[in-house]
Amino acid sequence: MHIHCVQIGSPARSPPRARRPWAGAGARPEIKAGFRLPPQPFRAEGAAPGRCVVCGQPVFRLGWHEDLWGAGAPNARAAWHSACVAAWRFWLAPQGARKIVARVQRHRCALTDKRLLKGAEIDHRTPLHEVWRDLRDRPYAELLSYWGLGNLQVVNAPAHAAKSAAEAAARASLRAAARLSDAA
Ligand SMILES: [Zn+2]
Repeated sequence: MHIHCVQIGSPARSPPRARRPWAGAGARPEIKAGFRLPPQPFRAEGAAPGRCVVCGQPVFRLGWHEDLWGAGAPNARAAWHSACVAAWRFWLAPQGARKIVARVQRHRCALTDKRLLKGAEIDHRTPLHEVWRDLRDRPYAELLSYWGLGNLQVVNAPAHAAKSAAEAAARASLRAAARLSDAA
């Protein structure tokens, strides 16, 4: 079957709208939803009828990216592609990929190279905090790839805790530096 789907974590076909930088960069209304969610520029713009709130492309019959049935127009009642819904669920719950990623890593911890232990956790190589902070002006499709498989690794729980603590400390010192420069 010919599937026109969004590959998990990275749109297989980059629509023209997704290649431009995300116009919402700078404003952060949707950060309220949490940094674990990717930006939602098309939702923020207000979804047009028949357009997908995830990728911005028209949604045709049965949630497909293409008009396979020759309907001639998008389905005005649809707001999601089936494939985009699947991708969205994956972005929200990447721990489901733990087994696959562990196999790719030959069951070694990505941080310590020690054997993966029971209770090993999925982690984003480039932390999503950093993506939100530093990479927001990248084209949307590229930005989404940080939520995809390519940015996932499996790590042992103690190593994960240490990495998270180091990242939190780095964020805190950045905030402190920003406060100092604001005060100056
Ligand atoms: Zn879509």
